[in-house]
Amino acid sequence: MTEKTTPQTPFPAASILGYPRIGRRRELKKAVESYWAGTIDAAALDAAAKEIQLGTAKRLQGLGLTEAAAVPGTFSYYDQVLDAAAHLGAVPARFGNLLDAGGELDIDGYFTLARGTKDQQPLEMTKWFDTNYHYLVPEIGPETSFALTSSRIVEEFAYALANGVETRPYIVGPVTFLLLSKASDDAPAGFNPLSRLEDVLPVYTALLGKLAAAGAAWVQLDEPALVVDQDTSAGEIQAAVARSYEVLSAAPARPQLFVSTPYGALDGQLGTLAATGIDALHLDVFKGGVPSAAALAALGTKTLVAGVVDGHNIWRNDLQASADKIAELKKSVATLAISTSTSTQHVPHDVEEETQLSEQLRSWLAFADQKAVEVVALAGLLTDAGTAAVQPAIDEATRIIASRATADGVRRAGVRERTAALTTSDFSRSEFGVREAAQDKALHLPPLPTTTIGSFPQTSEIRTARARANRGDLSTDQYEQLMKDEIKRVVELQEELGFDVLVHGEPERNDMVQYFAENLEGFDVTVHGWVQSYGSRCTRPSILWGDVTRSAPITVAWAEYAQSLTAKPMKGMLTGPVTILAWSFVRDDQPLGETANQVALALRDEIADLEAAGIKVIQVDEPALRELLPLRKADQPAYLDWSVNSFRLATAGADDATQVHTHLCYSEFGAIIDAIDGLDADVTSIEAARSKMEVVHDLEHHGFGRGVGPGVYDIHSPRVPGSDEVTELLSTAVKHVPSRQLWVNPDCGLKTRGYAETEESLRNLVAATRTVRAEL
Ligand code: GLN
Ligand code: ZN
Repeated sequence: MTEKTTPQTPFPAASILGYPRIGRRRELKKAVESYWAGTIDAAALDAAAKEIQLGTAKRLQGLGLTEAAAVPGTFSYYDQVLDAAAHLGAVPARFGNLLDAGGELDIDGYFTLARGTKDQQPLEMTKWFDTNYHYLVPEIGPETSFALTSSRIVEEFAYALANGVETRPYIVGPVTFLLLSKASDDAPAGFNPLSRLEDVLPVYTALLGKLAAAGAAWVQLDEPALVVDQDTSAGEIQAAVARSYEVLSAAPARPQLFVSTPYGALDGQLGTLAATGIDALHLDVFKGGVPSAAALAALGTKTLVAGVVDGHNIWRNDLQASADKIAELKKSVATLAISTSTSTQHVPHDVEEETQLSEQLRSWLAFADQKAVEVVALAGLLTDAGTAAVQPAIDEATRIIASRATADGVRRAGVRERTAALTTSDFSRSEFGVREAAQDKALHLPPLPTTTIGSFPQTSEIRTARARANRGDLSTDQYEQLMKDEIKRVVELQEELGFDVLVHGEPERNDMVQYFAENLEGFDVTVHGWVQSYGSRCTRPSILWGDVTRSAPITVAWAEYAQSLTAKPMKGMLTGPVTILAWSFVRDDQPLGETANQVALALRDEIADLEAAGIKVIQVDEPALRELLPLRKADQPAYLDWSVNSFRLATAGADDATQVHTHLCYSEFGAIIDAIDGLDADVTSIEAARSKMEVVHDLEHHGFGRGVGPGVYDIHSPRVPGSDEVTELLSTAVKHVPSRQLWVNPDCGLKTRGYAETEESLRNLVAATRTVRAEL
């Protein structure tokens, strides 16, 4: 028997897995960035953080999460995986000693890992499961010395408790922590961070002891990595899960253990966790469905925390569907509690803030606050007395969701007829050889043509002009004139630098997705709907709620103007259907593939109009193609099928002589290279500079037969690559990719760069191209 220092508090009937931490008005972003800029001190940052934490706790209590441990302690200054690393002592040796005299990683050390130093790159950043949130990747090696190097979550718990809210501390669990880590620079080849499990568990045990001493009744250990197919074998993971929770449940003093498994079905690991000494287990039954009665029976007396309310998207919960799932779970589960499927960190705070949206649209939505209320309502179903009281809320949800189906703009006959009439020929162009010949004739490009990815630096003048136009301080004409002036400058610069295929620079776009959302029917945009993307960075996804159509050309006038300034080909620039979906909140009432095809048809019309306006090269960006890739391998082929097809539908109407480009923002695409090939773009630009052209091996091996531009200039840093360096990268590339296929371009768009470094880098890029061309 384990002895516990806290009395047995039941798991709260209603809770959420996590809550946005950036602040309703992005207060955390402002505080953290001011601290980095040196305009506020650590005490002021701490005060701002406490205000957000307590504000969140009180608000959630007010929304009905009143039981002990119902409010999750999911605040973070930057990232939850970094928080775990900071608590466990996982500070890479390359940073030197970042711990203070007391052996703790203070806030400056913490931010050093997130942001790097003059000599040290920050921890790498990568996507958190199938969301648009990015976490920092811990670096673990045989040399990592694990120790409890922070007690921030303990202090945060104590602070909330002292102010009247008994929260539930949160930390990424040991198996997920190690599975998300990568081997450190010092680790031998083939080192697997999971091999350090035995060394990390004592630190968790120590942390549990401190949390228990502070009075925490429950702790949430987040294990989303268990819902994903990993490189590490399922058997090894199973052993790690069993061992971890055997050790942690035997801790001499600990809160009750609650393991959460958001982002999909837990499948095989359910039985493993059920067999351990944990006290409550969360399942994502929204996305993952209700497991079989036999699988659930294994839980015995453990509380099952049913994630029935979607934490990842913004639609009002279908309370009847949730009630049905709850009824089914009740049949096989002894103790049930209600929660969200994932943390609500992926959605904005509060629909009620969006007063500019129609009342109808608002009634269809649930942001984080509304989701808390939905969870509280559904928890009523856990008791006989509560059940009757919930019925009106269920009926209202059913009525509103039904009204969505028939509301104006949700289904447009014209759009439906067009998608219903699609045939396979709408998804295909001529053979590449035919297109290539027609494009050669139309474009007369030199070998190794040079181009850029689209955007040029978004200067403060451009942003100020846009802000003034939005406020009404500039007329539309004045704003457009300023943008045209900017386009002219950008075109002249590219002419002077000697580029072969030019771009207009995208000054008129606030964001590559929102710009299209604002100009297509079927979307709305929010004012306060910020969600954290990483660290202090937030995005404001658009809401795709209805059938998508294009009521007028979007980019054509800008492209036409830009083309009028030069005899060189001007690239038309569009965002692809998959990326538009990935970076928006998308309707949940039809398959994504259907929505993607609607967006594709709108883009197809735009491409036809660009062609009619004399644009001969058109780029359709798909940087998010890999982002939506399902977590389970079995689900991937269906995804790749609809996503690739939507791109083909968007582009297949183009003439043979129109050169279609696409751009993807990452280099590790080995796993989806078939899909990228399947896009059938004439030219594909990809990231490659940081990985020193490693991608060309994948391309060679695959026999990639069309144009390809592996980036030769890493635009993610202000560093200027020398022309020798670019020459070397290009010389590597021509050894593996036939020179007639090879393009020369930066890794990505230049919008986040300044002009000084951009000009110099691009000048070196052209010089290097001339050197390598001369040697062909
Ligand atoms: N055309 C876009 C740009 O240059 C592409 C950006 C991206 O891939 N994320 O900014
Ligand atoms: Zn990119």
